[in-house]
Amino acid sequence: MNFSSLDLAPQISQALETCGYKKLTPVQEKAVVAARRGKDILAIAQTGTGKTAAYAIPVLQQLLDNPREGSNPKPRALVLTPTRELAEQLSHTIGTYAQCTDLKITSVYGGVKMGGQAAKLRGGIDILIATPGRLLEHISQGNTVLTGVEHVVLDECDRMLDMGFIADVKTLLGYCPEKRQSLMFSATLSAAVNELSHKLLNNHQEIRVSKEQITADTVDHVLYAVDEERKIDLFMDLLRQYDWYQVLVFTSTKGQADALAAKLKKYRAAVCHGDKSQGTRRRALADFKAGKLQVLIATEVAARGLDIEGLEHVINYNLPFLAEDYVHRIGRTGRAGAKGHAISFVSRDEERSLVLIERLIGHKIKRLHRRGFDATNRQALIKRVGKSKSSGRTNRSSATQIDKQSDKGYIPRTAKPSKAKTKASATQKKRSSRNKG
Ligand code: AMP
Repeated sequence: MNFSSLDLAPQISQALETCGYKKLTPVQEKAVVAARRGKDILAIAQTGTGKTAAYAIPVLQQLLDNPREGSNPKPRALVLTPTRELAEQLSHTIGTYAQCTDLKITSVYGGVKMGGQAAKLRGGIDILIATPGRLLEHISQGNTVLTGVEHVVLDECDRMLDMGFIADVKTLLGYCPEKRQSLMFSATLSAAVNELSHKLLNNHQEIRVSKEQITADTVDHVLYAVDEERKIDLFMDLLRQYDWYQVLVFTSTKGQADALAAKLKKYRAAVCHGDKSQGTRRRALADFKAGKLQVLIATEVAARGLDIEGLEHVINYNLPFLAEDYVHRIGRTGRAGAKGHAISFVSRDEERSLVLIERLIGHKIKRLHRRGFDATNRQALIKRVGKSKSSGRTNRSSATQIDKQSDKGYIPRTAKPSKAKTKASATQKKRSSRNKG
């Protein structure tokens, strides 16, 4: 379906043209028409499939269809999102879709001073994007009210619940009028999301992607079974060999992120985790997006919804605690039809998580073997269970052993940079040849 068949307001069509969008993505096909008619929606949408536009376009269209009477400064649409980074990114993306309108859009989130945000809120806003805690602070200080909200979007809903925002979200929704449109977007359908949807949504339409499609099928998943203490060396070895143009690395803890960063002094690398100031986190992401950094090391905080153009490689230095988070991390690559590679390092202690992840994504992850990095306890185990393997019995504790193949030539060397990034790449090459010399 083409956008031209939707009869959208010319201001929206023009903006979408600027973005180069012609056809609706599958989630947009399902959500835009229904949401534009004012229906409540629960969308379980694959990450990176265009879900921001899937809710932003119908909300913008409805705001333009029913212009505000007078100069009331109260927000008319509220988008709640779990992280600061996501709030900033949504503000930018929705701002792009609304660039040809007079609608005012702003985001409020913690970690920065209240003053600037308060002034914007008091000046009048049409679409407010917020993390729950900071918005509650603004409301308690009288900087804004939600009594004029006509459309509420809960973005990355499962994450908001996982992060313990449920009470804040409920309080905020209690401040909104009962008569409103509510749109819930979530990458996964947990029991909590399902329960919340039944409480919040009214006669809603449910949109789902099938389990097999839960991660983009443009992503190739591989793993290495490796001892925890060897992961740093494995990463350095892979980076030296493949010299990826850009790689996003997820660690479970801030300590692991810092330890890895300390090893990467020769590379252009940055760290993005909860102990870093908002300014540092923002700069790291902006530099990574602009192609100025080769490696970005992040904890879960950066996992959701971040749209990094042309990112081909994501490394799970550790498997995430929640299987759903694997889907979100991997969603940073293989976006909008592009090719992506997800490479996981799995230690013995993480095999249980691996089983849950494979169950969630609906297929086995390809095991690769790299000379000198096989898990030592695994080798001992193989010897011990050699007999039972040949007799065809499966052994649950050998989860990372099946189908292992050498990684020679398996993982592509490096992504071809997009035009926008070519300049940064040239600088990077110069620098890396200096380092080699
Ligand atoms: P999102 O899931 O909203 O983060 O979007 C993922 C990527 O898809 C972003 O780079 C969007 O700009 C892009 N995108 C969204 N909708 C479309 C579309 N209809 N056609 C082409 N690209 C799109």
